[in-house]
This record gives sequence, structure tokens and C-alpha cells, in this order.
Amino acid sequence: MTENIAIYPGSFDPITFGHIDIVKRASKIFDQVILAIAHDNSKNSLFSMEKKVQMAQNELKDLKNVEITDFSGLLVDFAKEKNAKIAIRGLRAISDFEYEFQIYNMNSKLDPNLQTIFLPAATELQFISSKLVKEVVRLKGDVSDFVSPAIEAELKQILL
Ligand code: ADP
Repeated sequence: MTENIAIYPGSFDPITFGHIDIVKRASKIFDQVILAIAHDNSKNSLFSMEKKVQMAQNELKDLKNVEITDFSGLLVDFAKEKNAKIAIRGLRAISDFEYEFQIYNMNSKLDPNLQTIFLPAATELQFISSKLVKEVVRLKGDVSDFVSPAIEAELKQILL
């Protein structure tokens, strides 16, 4: 039987408890989950790609069917290369919906064989974004409910 491989793409700059919750849930649904960190998008990255990969690997080391990798170019092309037929996206609030729906439509147009599956954010994690976490650290706030101590230390090292 063919394996059900899902790709979870994003910037993960850095990986938060919100992302981790989505990966954990996806890893129970699919045979393999590839967390794919995008090289080129419009967001300016705080961390280097090497660091983002290393941090995600460290956070997810207990999930045996999860692989972390970087990718550049179109998601549909990378998914094909990895033999993944499903893209996972997390949906936080209504504000995420418009953008996510646009991406979904574009990806479906580019490759109708790639299915997108949205997982709703956990209630207690839905206000977490990498962007806000960086902002709170910059302003010397407590982010221990949003990222692991290791990630918090990495953020502080760069931002403070
Ligand atoms: P961000 O920089 O906004 O945190 P990413 O580009 O790294 O987001 O996000 C990758 C995917 O993870 C997107 O589908 C995004 O909606 C989702 N995501 C981000 N934060 C959360 C969260 N707290 N709960 C659920 N999904 C999330």
C-alpha cells in the first residue's frame, strides 16, 4: 500500500507551541509528515535556515514519523518530489482564512493532485504567531507559554 505522506509548509521563524500542536496532530493522521521550512517568501527571517531546521528537529525529535527539511520554489513541485499528496495548514482565526484560502486555490490550480487539509488551531494556542512571540521577547515579556525554553533562549540571544 502507498504511504500517506503530508507536507506541513511554513516559515517556522521560530517554531512555536502552535506549530508543534499541528505537527503532533498531523503525525497521528498520516504515515509521514514533512515539516518543510520555506526559503523564499516575503517574510524577513530572524533565524538562519540552518538554525530553523535545527530548532525544529530538536523540538520534534520524539515524533518518529516527522521529518524536517528546507525547500525553495513552489510547494506543489516540492510535494511531488517528496511524493506527498497532502498539504497541511493550521487555521487560527478568521483572519488566517482569506490568505489560506488564496494559497489553497492557487496550489489546487497549479496541481489538482495536491490536497490541502486545514487543522484548526487549539483554542489555547490560536493567538500564538512567530511574529508576535518575537515582538514580546523584544519587549522583554514572558513567552514561556508560547515556545520551549530552548527556543526562548535562542530568541533572547538574538533579540536582547
Ligand atoms: P507564523 O509565522 O504566522 O507563525 P508560519 O508561516 O510559520 O506562521 O505558519 C505555518 C503554518 O502554521 C500556517 O498554516 C499557519 O497558519 C500555521 N500556524 C501558525 N501558528 C499557529 C498556531 N498557533 N496554531 C495553529 N496553526 C498555526
